[in-house]
This record gives sequence, C-alpha cells and structure tokens, in this order.
Amino acid sequence: RTKELGKNSYSFYEPNLRTATSREMQLEQSLHRALEQDEFILHYQPRFDLKTGAIAGVEALIRWDSAEHGLVSPQEFIPLAEETGMIVPIGERILRKACEQAKRWIDAGKPPIRMAVNLSLLQFKQVHLVEQIASILEETGLPGRYLELEITESVASQNEKAVAERLREIKELGITVSIDDFGTGYSSLSYLRQYPLDVLKIDRSFIRNLVQSPDDTAIVKAIIAMAHSLHLSVCAEGVETEEQLVFLRDHGCGEVQGFLLAKPKPAEEVEHILARTITYPVHAAS
Ligand code: C2E
Ligand code: MG
Ligand code: MG
Ligand code: MG
Repeated sequence: RTKELGKNSYSFYEPNLRTATSREMQLEQSLHRALEQDEFILHYQPRFDLKTGAIAGVEALIRWDSAEHGLVSPQEFIPLAEETGMIVPIGERILRKACEQAKRWIDAGKPPIRMAVNLSLLQFKQVHLVEQIASILEETGLPGRYLELEITESVASQNEKAVAERLREIKELGITVSIDDFGTGYSSLSYLRQYPLDVLKIDRSFIRNLVQSPDDTAIVKAIIAMAHSLHLSVCAEGVETEEQLVFLRDHGCGEVQGFLLAKPKPAEEVEHILARTITYPVHAAS
C-alpha cells in the first residue's frame, strides 16, 4: 500500500527550458487563495449509452471563477496546478463535491448514473489515495459503483506492480476505472492487459475528422475492436456531428460524449435532463 510509484520513470522536464509567463505566475499565486475562497466549481457533461440512448453518466469538469482573473479554463490552470502540486488538494475537494452531487441526485430520486471524475497522475501517486477515496465515499454516502475515475495513460508509465495493486484497491471499492484521452499518451499497449480497467475513452483528436479522414476512421475502428476483445467498454469524446455519432453507433461504440448531445453545464441545468433519452441517431446509416 505504501509502495512507491514512479521509480522507473524519468522526468523530461527541464526547468530552465521553460520560463513561466507573468500571467502563469499570477495564476499560480491565486490558486492557493482560490481553494480557500472556494472558487472552484463543477460543471457536468452527460455521457450517453448508444444502445439505449439513455444518459449513462456525467463527467465532472472543473471550472475556476476567479475573483482576480475571471473565468479561467482548466486547460490553462490544471497544468499549473499539476506543476505546483496544488492539484492534490484541489482534486480532493473536487472529488468530494462530485460525490456529494451524485448522492444528492440519487436521494432526489433521479435515475442512477455514474459520476466520472478526472484524476491527475500526481493524485494517483499519493500514498493515501485509496484511503482518501474510501473516506470520501463513506462521508458522502455514495456507493462506489456510482463513481468512475478517469486516469490518463501517463499513469501506465509508472511502476507497473504498484499501479496494478493500486488499481485493484480502487476497484475493490466498486469504482469504475477509465483511461482518458486514449491513444494520445503512452506508446506501449501492454498495460491494457496488466491493469484492471473498465473503459477506454477515445481521445477527441481521433473523433474530430472521423468519417472524412480514412486514417482516423481506421484508428477508431481498431480501438473499438481491440477494446471489445479485451472486454473493455468504449466511450468516444468530442462528438460534434450526427455523422460521427452514426458512425460510432454502427461500429459498436458503447458510449458517446460531446457538444452534439450536451455541453458541460452547472448541476441545476443538468439535473433536468438526467432522465432524458436521446433520439439520436434517428435514422440508420446508409
Ligand atoms: P477531458 O477530461 O478529456 O475532458 C473533456 C474536455 O473536452 C472538456 O474540456 C470538455 O468540455 C471538452 N469537450 C467535451 N465535448 C466536446 C466537444 O464535442 N467538442 C469539444 N471541442 N470539446 C468537448 P474542459 O472542461 O475544458 O477540460 C479540459 C481538460 O481539463 C479535461 O479534459 C481534463 O484533462 C482537465 N480537467 C477538467 N476538470 C478536471 C478535474 O476536475 N481534475 C483534473 N485533474 N483535470 C480536469
Ligand atoms: Mg476526462
Ligand atoms: Mg478526455
Ligand atoms: Mg481530451
């Protein structure tokens, strides 16, 4: 349980090669206050089951409404939070909020759905991660089967035995584990058979030109086929057109997430559609 992760990993980060801009330094300084002032909120983006059209879950996506900087995109501040280690306390706060929200929806009689939360590599490496998750589930009263944790392929590059053991402990809590941005990170696929995983989330970059680009089409088909033979589910991210949706449905992709179906929204706006079933795709592909 206290085994170290990352013994065999190398850091290619060269501090001297990159100079923080003044904006970055200002944001970094504000991150601490943001946590104290509770400036982080969550938006939720639904994810749909392509067979039934029902909402299968929502992904919690962090938003920072900063008193000093206005709305700051996670694409800008998450990398800074990772560099400074602030992602650890921020991530813990976010996980708690997401679990509280999921429990609130269950208690309000909404159809049971999974709450997916992004977990940074640095969080994953925390020695007490599993205990922390377990106590958040206990304190919020959310059964583990309603929680999904999204990790990236960067986790796979860490000490293999330690990662496998940690994933098993996470799964013992009933939690679903998915690989986010699949296809963009780690170069070896061997981790797919070493680790107890449930879902591959195909990165948006492969979906963007789906159908038009023969290469992307081939890659997406191959990922779906591979996932199925490994008994993993597949979720496609960044679905923006009906053409992409129809293609994914016809090629056996299980779940989809994207602006075509729903954008990330505050809890009050999402809860109205939790019982909704999509009518897409309404017609069969020709
Ligand atoms: P991600 O986990 O891959 O999340 C999906 C991102 O794609 C979200 O961006 C979402 O708004 C966006 N997206 C969804 N559907 C579409 C679409 O159809 N088209 C396009 N163009 N974009 C779509 P967002 O919310 O800006 O988050 C960006 C990234 O920041 C996330 O990528 C994730 O890596 C990170 N992030 C967000 N929230 C958290 C968090 O709570 N913790 C951690 N560690 N990372 C987070
Ligand atoms: Mg994600
Ligand atoms: Mg993703
Ligand atoms: Mg992505």
